[in-house]
Amino acid sequence: MRSLPRREFTRAQKVAMLKRAMDDVGRIRCEGCGLNITGKVIEFDHMIPEALILDKDRPLSIEDGRVLGRDCCHRAPGAKTAQDLAAIAEAKRREARHLGIRRLASRGFVRPPPQRVASRPLAKPAAWRRDDE
Ligand SMILES: [Zn+2]
Repeated sequence: MRSLPRREFTRAQKVAMLKRAMDDVGRIRCEGCGLNITGKVIEFDHMIPEALILDKDRPLSIEDGRVLGRDCCHRAPGAKTAQDLAAIAEAKRREARHLGIRRLASRGFVRPPPQRVASRPLAKPAAWRRDDE
């Protein structure tokens, strides 16, 4: 897969997409689930992940993007971005297999024994504990 820079939407395209996502009373609706995301964190989703697009000569248009709420649709577990990352990883594995690239075989380093003692405390003491000392 050629790694070309990720194309971003222009400011004007983002404005146009926000207008498209707006309902008749001016609330911004998530274009994924329809939730009212006015005042929430809004992200501009590339409907086809940039990493999977080979023809980057064609400029992005607002049809290539969607206005998504970060928490309801874009970054939520199992949501768009997570699915995209899985698809990108699979495409890279497929390409590597096609090109005959294999994982490096171990050169035989000896595995160190498992660590028995934590090198630093596992958690900071709770604030209320520090106070009553
Ligand atoms: Zn949503």
